[in-house]
Amino acid sequence: MEYKMNIFCKIKLHKWQAKCTCTRCGTKRDRMHDWNGCICTRCHSKRNENHQWDGCLCVLCRTIRNEGHEWDGCTCTRCHWTRNESHDWVGCLCSRCHRERHEWKESGISTQTRRRKVTSGSYYDSVQAFEVWDETTITKLCKNCGESKRETTESESWEEEY
Ligand SMILES: [Zn+2]
Ligand SMILES: [Zn+2]
Ligand SMILES: [Zn+2]
Ligand SMILES: [Zn+2]
Ligand SMILES: [Zn+2]
Ligand SMILES: [Zn+2]
Repeated sequence: MEYKMNIFCKIKLHKWQAKCTCTRCGTKRDRMHDWNGCICTRCHSKRNENHQWDGCLCVLCRTIRNEGHEWDGCTCTRCHWTRNESHDWVGCLCSRCHRERHEWKESGISTQTRRRKVTSGSYYDSVQAFEVWDETTITKLCKNCGESKRETTESESWEEEY
């Protein structure tokens, strides 16, 4: 035999009895919860109030707050939140949170590239306008670990050629 929903529940006449779940079919609604702190004991809905904090964690719903951390260097041992102090530097890398602290210095290696882009030509097929700009790529080196990165800057002056 097939399970049939109660006819009253079917037309949404649930039997709430001042609760958040229908006592006949278990349908939930977001009203009349039985709150135990931040969690409803009946349907396990959560709300962002009345948390039961133990340091930085709510013991009921495991929500994290940014206070009461237990710091081990830069990382909280309970929730793994990180702060920007007391890092464990190995060279330029923090061994706990993987933050980097390179000290970039220009290496003197730079290349300049002239770029152009067609911007029009729709009205008169014979006339084309170009945007022209210079791109300078500078190589920077970390003076602590020797790591390198490249930065590209566009020169500000734009000209148009017809
Ligand atoms: Zn129902
Ligand atoms: Zn509930
Ligand atoms: Zn909570
Ligand atoms: Zn924490
Ligand atoms: Zn760190
Ligand atoms: Zn470095």
